[in-house]
Parts: sequence; C-alpha cells; structure tokens
Amino acid sequence: MSINLLDFDAKGLAGFCAKIGEKPFRARQLLRWIHRAGEADFDAMSDLAKGLREKLSAAAVIEPPKVISDHTAPDGTRKWLLSVGAGNGIETVYIPETSRGTLCISSQVGCALACAFCSTGRQGFNRNLTVAEIIGQLWWANKVLTETFTSEAGRERPITNIVMMGMGEPLTNFENVVTSLDLMLDDNAYGLSRRRVTVSTSGIIPAMDRLRERCPVALAVSLHAPNDALRDQLVPINRKYPLRELLGACERYLQSAPRDFITFEYVMLDGVNDSVAQARELVQLVRNIPCKLNLIPFNPFPDSGFKRSSANAVSRFRDVLMEAGLVTTVRKTRGDDIAAACGQLAGKVLDKTRRAHRSIAETAG
Ligand code: SAH
Ligand code: SF4
Repeated sequence: MSINLLDFDAKGLAGFCAKIGEKPFRARQLLRWIHRAGEADFDAMSDLAKGLREKLSAAAVIEPPKVISDHTAPDGTRKWLLSVGAGNGIETVYIPETSRGTLCISSQVGCALACAFCSTGRQGFNRNLTVAEIIGQLWWANKVLTETFTSEAGRERPITNIVMMGMGEPLTNFENVVTSLDLMLDDNAYGLSRRRVTVSTSGIIPAMDRLRERCPVALAVSLHAPNDALRDQLVPINRKYPLRELLGACERYLQSAPRDFITFEYVMLDGVNDSVAQARELVQLVRNIPCKLNLIPFNPFPDSGFKRSSANAVSRFRDVLMEAGLVTTVRKTRGDDIAAACGQLAGKVLDKTRRAHRSIAETAG
C-alpha cells in the first residue's frame, strides 16, 4: 500500500525524505505543496526534479477521505460527509461569518465516553481517525473553499479558525490529534495561530497536561453540570476525573494557554441542569478560574430522553452567570436544514437521522 503523505507533519516528512534518499529541504517543499497549495498531484509540483516526482508517484499518495455528500444551508453553513471506509462516515462543518470562518473537525469514528446527551456517544466507539483523516478534513475544506473564496471584509482566507468539536474525544486520540495540530500551526502548512485552534474535551486530565506541554492551543472544556453528582450522570468520565481535579487541570493549563481564559461548554437540558439554583452553583464552582461560559441549547435526536431548555430558562441561567461577572454566550443554532451538529454527527453512512446544526463559532473566538 502506498504511503499517504497527509499522515506526516514536518518531522514525519523529513523522515520520509531521508528514507527515500532526499535532502531535508525537500520535506519543506513538499509540505508547502501539499498543504499551502492544496496540491495532490506530484507532477504539478514544478520545482521538484522529474526524477523525484516519479519516485514520489511510485511510493506515495496524497489522499484525504472521500466525499460522500456536500450540503450548504441557506445561512452558508456547509457540511461534508466523508467516508473513512467500512461504511463509516465522519462529518466536517464549515461556519462562515463576516470576520471569521470556522471549521469543525472530527477526531474519531464514534466515541467511547458515552455522554448521556450525545448522539456520537450513543453510537459507541469505532476507531481513532488517522492523521490523514483528521488533517484531510482541513486539507479538503481549505482546497474547495479557496477555489470559490473572494476576500471578504474582515478576513483574507476562508478558514481562520479550527475547533476540534466534531465526532469523538480528541484527547483520547492524542498522538494523531497533536500531529494534526502541528500541521495546523506550521507556517509552511496552514499557519494558524494557537489562539485560533481550539481543542474541546470532556476532561481527560492527564491528556490535558500533556497537551499543555506538547501543543498548548486554546482549550474548551465540556462541563455541563455544576456538581459531581449530576456530572457523573451526564458525563460518565467524571467518575474517573471529578470536577475539583478537572478545575485544577484547567488552572495548570492556563499557565501555558494562548488565551488567558478557558471556555466552559454547558449544554442546556430542560429540567436537568438549567435551574437558577444550578446557575448559582456553577458560579461558585468556576469562581476562581478565568473563564468564559458557552451555553449550548441541546440539539435533540431520536430517543435521547432529553429536551432542549426553553429560551426563558436559558436567558435566566445566563443572567445569573453574567450578574456574577462571568462572560457568557449562548450558541446560535445554524444550518438546521442541512442536519449537522456536534453531539449529533453521523457515525454511519447509512444513518439518515435528521440532525440540527448549532453554531460552534462563538467558542472559536
Ligand atoms: N468530545 C469533545 C468534543 C466533541 S463534542 C467534548 O465532549 O468536548 C463538542 C461539544 O458538543 C461538547 O461540548 C459536547 O458536550 C456538545 N454536545 C454533545 N452532544 C450535544 C447535543 N446533543 N446538543 C448540544 N451539544 C452537544
Ligand atoms: Fe464523546 Fe464529546 Fe460526545 Fe461525550 S460529548 S460522548 S466526549 S463526543
């Protein structure tokens, strides 16, 4: 089987070049052709010698996951369903706004962490995505969007922000996610700043510490409950990594974070975690941590057993947080008509469940 060069970051490509007897600077050329120029055809890489191009064609490919479907909602939100083999699909969502364009990327097929309100969690875990499958989502979206992008007020390129908020728990696919992050940040590849790349985690504490050391990008932590008793139910990994320890990890993370706050995500579930008393408890919980709160109206799916909080409940909850001085945003729902949502994304190509998309762009800052 051919080597897929999308699996390599700068270091990996340098290793690959050494193996085929090429000088290290070839790795940088390749990196630029692949990720900056979005080029998949070795023959088009005009500053590589013909002999090298032939060698590459024989030994390697540049192959992102294949597109199964591509939908754009009236509000511009665009969703790709990509095949990763064996009937499995993953989703990638693009959310354009005036001053930024955010790409929401998946890290696994399914998820092992089984959060009660998450459709991806309901599907169980299938497998980790490879680097080529993770970065391939960005490679593909960037290529397609660049072809039609005309410089809009406020930004010069289609994708300015990345959020790892698609299917899966990024921090349980650590090595592949970090290699992909390296490529997102590399000036010879996508050149994004650390502040504009966000990893969202349900709170895998040891991996949060490793991320802080290896590649401290912006961090969003899925809280969803103001105390351990409720969080144990909603986010079962809390039984292993409870709130007090999680908040400690957030404080440590802040010492290296590119932003001076952590984003806490809080899905609003009717009658479960949306009372004024729970808002007050949440204020006490996060009191000592520089943070922003992002309230996410629950996106329903069949047999979820949960309902979305009413607009009134959401605004009452938000008011309590804001009055206590916490910066709080409520996520808008976008692209409903094309059916895509974090927590509701397709695990199987054959899954035709209707989904609604909610905007994740606020978190991307
Ligand atoms: N596994 C990571 C990232 C992917 S999920 C995490 O849990 O953080 C991205 C976000 O979507 C998380 O905050 C998650 O809790 C939230 N989410 C999951 N299911 C949802 C649903 N049905 N409605 C709204 N948000 C949901
Ligand atoms: Fe996994 Fe995140 Fe869904 Fe929980 S919310 S099951 S961690 S994808």
